[in-house]
Amino acid sequence: MRQIAILGSTGSIGTSALDVIRRHPDRLSAIALTAHRRWEVLVRQAWEFRPRFVALSDPAAARKADPAQLPPGTSFLRGSDALSEIAVHEDVDTVLVAIVGAAGLRSTWAAAEQGKTIAIANKETLVLAGPLIVDLARRHRATLLPVDSEHSAIFQCLSAGRREEVARIILTASGGPFRTWTREELEQATVEQALQHPTWAMGPKITIDSATMMNKALEIVEARWLFDFPPERITVVIHPQSIVHSLVEFQDGAVIAQMSPPDMRLPIQFALFYPDRLPGPARKMNWAVPYCLEFEPADTERFPALRLGYRVAAAGGTAGAVLNAANEVAVERFLRRELGFLDILRLVEAVLDEHKVEYPDALQPLLDADAWARRRARQWHPPARAYSAPPL
Ligand code: NDP
Ligand code: MG
Repeated sequence: MRQIAILGSTGSIGTSALDVIRRHPDRLSAIALTAHRRWEVLVRQAWEFRPRFVALSDPAAARKADPAQLPPGTSFLRGSDALSEIAVHEDVDTVLVAIVGAAGLRSTWAAAEQGKTIAIANKETLVLAGPLIVDLARRHRATLLPVDSEHSAIFQCLSAGRREEVARIILTASGGPFRTWTREELEQATVEQALQHPTWAMGPKITIDSATMMNKALEIVEARWLFDFPPERITVVIHPQSIVHSLVEFQDGAVIAQMSPPDMRLPIQFALFYPDRLPGPARKMNWAVPYCLEFEPADTERFPALRLGYRVAAAGGTAGAVLNAANEVAVERFLRRELGFLDILRLVEAVLDEHKVEYPDALQPLLDADAWARRRARQWHPPARAYSAPPL
């Protein structure tokens, strides 16, 4: 029986992970579940999965929560320290980090230091502190298993050959809801339109990141640190069907792809059972129907976010912390309708341009760069737009 702690169990990844656990009651058990604010959902999950611990990380929400609503045998922990406490608990075998944003950093760090198996969906943490986390995990013999579908795919494809035989890794991108929009149309894109992803149902932050293609920029950086390939050996291709989750090209020209319908339960299950493969709840290919798979080069003119991803993957140091923090604030501001859609990238680029990259070997300077970038991103104003009179 593997004891799984799900940090962020009420989110999109968290509920998909619970689906995997539901399917394997004899092999997987949810020992701990956490949410930030959604107490009612957490209580419902606690009654079904009977975890030993639940935690609410938002202190205000935690004060209001009534632990008497929990089933017998479930203890209630409060505040963000509770996540790290859970992550290092001796009975936890695997920590699934399904929190959104840089908030996942501390618990991931604690789990790595404790030598845990970490199934990591939380890409922002790897963008913020990738080299330090990977090094920490190596020193403490922790295992970092990617959950992000592209990185899980690459991890699976890499087993087809030896590392020194790899020519490059190829990340696929659906292109999001605005793949064929013009720049003029993008300038007017609304929150509602940006929240409609064509192939994946995900939390709001990553859905906006997919629309701006910042998600792929973050994934370039994530791949750079997780697999230790330089940016010039990481290629992005547009693949609107989201069936091929990524590819590895070997030196002889052979390209290995990992394919399956878009369903996060597959990479989550792969990480929870690694190295074993078992039947599971993820949707399967239907070979009785035709499929058409398209691949288009990803043009950095059309998708300027990719340029930022490559730039930050090449720069390293504090650049990832700044990219991620500026983007988190820009997405929040777009969702609050303070910024237009294209302002998200304008803001991120402006904050990056202002930052002088440093190369610390400790966490604190990265957290300082994160805090600085958030401040700058909150102060940033969109450029004044030329007023065009409405037609008579
Ligand atoms: P959601 O917004 O759906 O869920 C986020 C979860 O984290 C919720 O349980 C939420 O609790 C909790 N949470 C939110 N803020 C905090 C905080 N400050 N501290 C602690 N917990 C917090 O996100 P997703 O599931 O979509 O994404 C999770 C991570 O996985 C992200 O990093 C994303 O990039 C990555 N990912 C997601 C994919 C997907 O298909 N969704 C695919 C690949 C990667 P509450 O419900 O109480 O708000
Ligand atoms: Mg992904």
